[in-house]
Amino acid sequence: MKIFFVASEVAPFIKTGGLADVAASLPPALAELGNDVRVILPLYAGIGDQWRSQMTFVKYFYFRLGWRSSYCGLFQLERGGVTYYFVDNETYFKRNGLYGHYDDGERFAYFSRAVIEVPAQIDWSPDVIHANDWETALVPIYLNDFRFMIPQLTKTKSVYTIHNIEYQGRFGRSIMEDVFGLDAGHFNERLLSYYGDVNLMKGAIYASDYVTTVSPTYANELQYSFYAHGLEGVITDNYYKMAGILNGLDMKANDPATDENIVANYSVDDLGGKAKCKAALQEELGLKVDPNVPIIACISRLVGHKGYDLITNVFHRMMEANVQFVVLGTGEWGFEEFFRNAAKQYPGRVSANIKYNASLASHIYSGADIMLMPSVAEPCGLTQMFAMRYGTVPVVRLTGGLRDSVPPYNPETQEGLGFTFGNINADDMLDAVYRAITVFYNDKDSWSGLMKRGMSYDFSWEKSADEYLAIYNKITEE
Ligand code: ADP
Repeated sequence: MKIFFVASEVAPFIKTGGLADVAASLPPALAELGNDVRVILPLYAGIGDQWRSQMTFVKYFYFRLGWRSSYCGLFQLERGGVTYYFVDNETYFKRNGLYGHYDDGERFAYFSRAVIEVPAQIDWSPDVIHANDWETALVPIYLNDFRFMIPQLTKTKSVYTIHNIEYQGRFGRSIMEDVFGLDAGHFNERLLSYYGDVNLMKGAIYASDYVTTVSPTYANELQYSFYAHGLEGVITDNYYKMAGILNGLDMKANDPATDENIVANYSVDDLGGKAKCKAALQEELGLKVDPNVPIIACISRLVGHKGYDLITNVFHRMMEANVQFVVLGTGEWGFEEFFRNAAKQYPGRVSANIKYNASLASHIYSGADIMLMPSVAEPCGLTQMFAMRYGTVPVVRLTGGLRDSVPPYNPETQEGLGFTFGNINADDMLDAVYRAITVFYNDKDSWSGLMKRGMSYDFSWEKSADEYLAIYNKITEE
């Protein structure tokens, strides 16, 4: 199977969020199953010299988009059995940051259109083009238009993955012909038209042969307006060709037994290193160094949908218990202020780290006892998987990928991986936290059982890669 994977960010070259992690792990997992997998992304200014020095120049060409004739340079790099292509156009990509420019619509329309041009330029016929999120939503739409002019794409099928439905790529109607190069026929209710605007994610959902999202529960939730941010009708209309596939983790790169970013290594057979990591974390953050007090941690963007209203609501009641609390993240000012103040109120017990810091994140994953994720919505969530892999027990609301990756702890059977609650309710969250710390304090054997089950659980990409492959096979056979 020849698979062309399209993403606006791919780790380790460039990353702002979870999409880059998926784009980094899924293609190599598919390649390992014997497929010809090629990934394409923009050549951003932020892609460092350590990668540029490994690239080879393939060729350059021009193509038309709307009234513009655009330059496209193509670079190539081989890594882990996958070929990576980088689209070079300095007008669009030699800038600070990846997103948030006034002409993002034009930049990613350019990129999506370039992607459609590449197969002919390198004379390669992909069986499937797999696009992701709003930035590359035009790929399946362009594919349906251009397949009749490009022999390499005549039989190509398309898959589109929603990583977060909040960001849909919504633009004014006037942009469609001029910037996206699409004639007025595309502005219809079963493609791009959305309350008088153009909605790229909607268009991609209709245009693709199959649609996926990043967990089975999130796929189900997207049928409801509470979760779908206005696209519930589009989702239900297309549910016949939709599936949820849980993201995986790179189990080798994220192994506490070998990870060089943590203070001491440890494994299910010898948890001693985790105690060292905990003491070092308490030291680093100015918390009282005490192995017997549980550290509750949060690592995420400080935004409403991560459930911070629940935490701030019952925070002082939570701190009545003998616990320490660590937060790492940036986001809404109100939450940032709340935690800054809390750190002053509870010296030696609360640590507020209002920043993005990958190294501190590693120290928290390895040093904390409990990872708190009361998300209102969570498409997949990687934080809880990292936490479990490093022996930090999750307390989560049962939504999206949290529901699919954290089976509730059952004290009778000693099964399950974490403590869970269902409703968006601060008291229910607090109850789950209390249940966790009760086991932590009173039942050490059960607690280390929870840690060990999480650490040895198989979060690898293999199973998910098989599921994607099954979808590719299904649509190409049709
Ligand atoms: P989302 O994609 O919604 O932000 P995920 O849980 O899927 O949430 O992924 C978040 C990733 O970003 C995790 O790898 C987490 O460790 C990391 N992360 C989030 N905030 C920070 C931060 N402030 N510092 C370091 N890493 C962070």
